[in-house]
Amino acid sequence: QAKDAESETPIVFQADMRERTQRRLELESDLRSAVTEQQLLLHYQPKVILSTGQISGFEALVRWRHPTRGMISPAEFIPNAENNGLIVEIGQWTLEEAMRQLQSWTEAGIVTSSTNMAVNLSTRQFQDRTLLEAIRRVLEERSSVAANLTLEVTESALIGNMELAKQKLDALRGLGVRLDLDDFGTGYSSLHYLHRLPFHSLKIDQSFVRSLEESEESLAIARSIIQLGASLNMCVIAEGVETAQQRDRLIGLGCRYGQGYFFSKPLPAAQMEKLLRDRQNS
Ligand code: C2E
Ligand code: MG
Ligand code: MG
Ligand code: MG
Repeated sequence: QAKDAESETPIVFQADMRERTQRRLELESDLRSAVTEQQLLLHYQPKVILSTGQISGFEALVRWRHPTRGMISPAEFIPNAENNGLIVEIGQWTLEEAMRQLQSWTEAGIVTSSTNMAVNLSTRQFQDRTLLEAIRRVLEERSSVAANLTLEVTESALIGNMELAKQKLDALRGLGVRLDLDDFGTGYSSLHYLHRLPFHSLKIDQSFVRSLEESEESLAIARSIIQLGASLNMCVIAEGVETAQQRDRLIGLGCRYGQGYFFSKPLPAAQMEKLLRDRQNS
């Protein structure tokens, strides 16, 4: 294989890397205009009571409709937005849009007044100094549904300075926000701290749910998280429930809430609205 004389890196790889770097740089500059050009949109996925399928809330998941590249998933642009700081602006838009939607659905009677809306916060957003003020403003603006906002935080946002994280979480809790610990089991939560943090729910990461039937380890981890939640008085939500078998197994383990393709994929607002109306009518 051809190699560059100096670097020893095969030339085809260099080309490949160059292409990827190029794509990343292009996306980054495009992302700057994504918010102002209204290219971002939210999909909504229901959170349900496993045994009945009844909807207890929604999670808002951001998407980017790129003018030439089509739909881009958050896994591809959120890390980028984290690095260059654009996540703060994107996060603000997400929060405002999700709460606007919740208010609209609640007022239209499409959802009950206790239905929750969950918004994801990435590490940089969680650590941003303007977070509390931004949340306070949105809650003021959407006062009729202010009690129904949930923020999902991952463990990685908490590591480093647990005391500081606790202060931040307590302050958010003080605003009346519900806090869920996302992707639980994949990070580094100190169990020692967990009981002191004001989380309402633990979300079992989908990697454990996916292999529930095949892997003894996943089963053991899911069981432990469900027991931990019970003893800490926290709700437990299973992510990524795709089959009836997984649902039944989770119910058997004592897990009350779930989310996943088995119940519904994340859908654009209009489609979710149709699904909700059809349910009401049946
Ligand atoms: P997450 O918060 O853990 O979201 C769950 C992810 O699992 C979503 O992927 C969802 O579409 C997907 N999912 C749900 N049910 C199933 C299932 O049954 N099977 C499988 N295979 N997947 C399922 P998505 O929408 O691509 O989002 C990926 C991640 O991007 C999210 O993970 C979250 O960390 C981040 N993200 C999404 N929207 C936002 C946002 O508005 N702000 C921030 N900061 N992060 C976001
Ligand atoms: Mg989440
Ligand atoms: Mg998750
Ligand atoms: Mg995740």
